[in-house]
Amino acid sequence: MSHDHHEPQGIGSATNKAFAQDYWFIVAGVVGLGVAVRVVNHIEAKSRLKSCLDASTSKYPTIPRNRLSQFWATATAVVREIRHPQFYIPIRGLRWATPLPLGRILVLLAYWAVVAYMMGWNVVEDDVYYWERIGYRNGWVTVAQLPMLYLLAMKVNPIGLLIGSSHERLNWLHRWVARTMLITATVHGFHFWTMWARADFVEYALETTPLVKYGIGAWGILLWLFVTGILPLRRLAYEIWVAQHVIASIVMLWLVHVHIPDSARYLLWMSVSFLVFDRAARWALLGWRNIRLRPDKTSCQGQKGFGHHVSVQAVGETTTLVTVKNVHFAWNAGQHVYLWLPRVGLLEAHPYTIACAHQPTTGPDICTCNSVQLIVRAHGGFSKRLLAYAKAHPDSPNLTGFLSGPYGVPPLWEAYDTLVLVGASSGVSFTLPILESVVRMASSESKTVCVRKIEMVMVAKRGEEIEYYVDRARLAAREARQKGIEVVLHVAITGEGQVHQRRDLPTRDPSVDHSISEPVTDRSAGPAKAPCTEKCHGCCETKEKAAEDAEGENTSDGSEERTYTSRPDIEKVIREPVESAWGETAVVVCGGKELTARTRNCVSRLSDERAVHKGTGAQGIYLHVEEYAF
Ligand SMILES: Cc1cc2nc3c(=O)[nH]c(=O)nc-3n(C[C@H](O)[C@H](O)[C@H](O)COP(=O)(O)OP(=O)(O)OC[C@H]3O[C@@H](n4cnc5c(N)ncnc54)[C@H](O)[C@@H]3O)c2cc1C
Repeated sequence: MSHDHHEPQGIGSATNKAFAQDYWFIVAGVVGLGVAVRVVNHIEAKSRLKSCLDASTSKYPTIPRNRLSQFWATATAVVREIRHPQFYIPIRGLRWATPLPLGRILVLLAYWAVVAYMMGWNVVEDDVYYWERIGYRNGWVTVAQLPMLYLLAMKVNPIGLLIGSSHERLNWLHRWVARTMLITATVHGFHFWTMWARADFVEYALETTPLVKYGIGAWGILLWLFVTGILPLRRLAYEIWVAQHVIASIVMLWLVHVHIPDSARYLLWMSVSFLVFDRAARWALLGWRNIRLRPDKTSCQGQKGFGHHVSVQAVGETTTLVTVKNVHFAWNAGQHVYLWLPRVGLLEAHPYTIACAHQPTTGPDICTCNSVQLIVRAHGGFSKRLLAYAKAHPDSPNLTGFLSGPYGVPPLWEAYDTLVLVGASSGVSFTLPILESVVRMASSESKTVCVRKIEMVMVAKRGEEIEYYVDRARLAAREARQKGIEVVLHVAITGEGQVHQRRDLPTRDPSVDHSISEPVTDRSAGPAKAPCTEKCHGCCETKEKAAEDAEGENTSDGSEERTYTSRPDIEKVIREPVESAWGETAVVVCGGKELTARTRNCVSRLSDERAVHKGTGAQGIYLHVEEYAF
């Protein structure tokens, strides 16, 4: 029996190396599939927009046009129905333990199936090499995954860019790859350790082969990263957590470097290059967005050579409105940036969704003075300090701030027939720009919009949390109506003693007319029309109550507004527009775990119940979930 862990290749080396390469071939294949799906979806969306431009070609431009697109729509609907369901744990203190949605669980099971196959294929033979063979195999399976760990942690993420996703949406997989690696690394170490222990060889191995100690060190760091990455711990002191996480990851790379044989080093260098590329790209992006070599102090609001003028304004007791001026990049509704305000947080950059639609440049020499607006809800650290600063300096001069991004790859919102936008509290800062950007596109001669109807749901405990959004939503709704898009606003103020706030949410914009014309509309005041089937029982539980609570109002500009004193029945809010849609509906939800899980389950059930794209004529439902968390 060979006890030599120095042995550069290890037993079964050819197979082990082949598995490491196969792992990356599989990754390339899966990413390739993701790219193909993205390309087909993009072509679909573009051809829909083309049909919408020329209304004479089709009365229903957002439905599948031929057998191929019908097949694609059916396959998409089936995948979506499987993907969305999520079991939500409503117990206070345990909500963080809510499992992943079913789609992610299935991805994880597939990943584990591949890894388990690689761990165990042809290694369990009852001979003298039993322990060593399993040990080497699992060492290779562990190191094969190492670059994946670093690839999935990248903010400037190549996988995201290719498949049309973003770093915060891939982060869950980064964590699970790390956990999987901890298991394979443990199996690797356990088998060598047991082999040495059986031969009474442990002390000698530790003394004579230093790489064993480095291996144990790398495993210890992986364990540390796993423990500190568990949810309640991860969120205790986020900045400290990030700092130790980055340092530990770099130290782990060095320990792995001295532990593994030369033939596996390419995997280490892949990891190092992902890490270095990401950091370099982030710094380059930061410089590109914030440094102007010849700032024009006279144009727009006055450019800065280094950073941007930033104004902050407290809006109510929990919200700060941040305006980053003179930003020269385009963005899409749903993208976010990292905000760095050294005066408020010297070493902190926080992600915030761009809460306004981009104003396209009107001519080659005309500066459109685009400002990025961020709506920041006060939590613990930075955001609380920011609010305190804004309150203490109501007339303060501009701060200097820096932006990095924009990140995120949202879909083409304008290519859907109907949009249902559900936002809770600061989550409205995600959905409102979608409404505004669609309206802006509808007003632009160069853009095509397929959207016919938008339902916008804004939920908060206190009126002051969303009054700012409601003002803007009303303004956008009025504009939308002028462009032929029907908009229904649902405003729910759910906190105790907030009844007075829901009817008369004050407005700061005198151009918005809030006068109410009677009578109350039939659509909103009546009981829920949708049948409450067995299947949708969970979503229907509050139907009667919500229907009673909802009050419909037609504002004088004709747009419809419904107000609620309890949470609106999400299923009802989604079902109505889906049932009346002429084509595909996009449901967008941004809020806490409970709201997002409820919406996922509702959309999945609704799609299944209506047999979307399965011969009933029911059209597809796309779901976009944002939780403002990794
Ligand atoms: C893609 C994305 C978009 C977001 N958009 C908005 C928005 O438009 N408006 C809004 O009010 N909030 C938004 N958030 C949430 C916002 O980033 C956090 O609330 C903020 O970073 C909290 O930091 P804090 O120091 O103020 O609070 P803390 O109390 O220190 O942190 C609260 C929690 O926020 C998270 N967090 C803290 N710092 C960071 C960070 N640098 N990066 C990621 N997460 C962090 C941690 O989970 C932490 O536990 C968004 C988050 C993400 C991921």
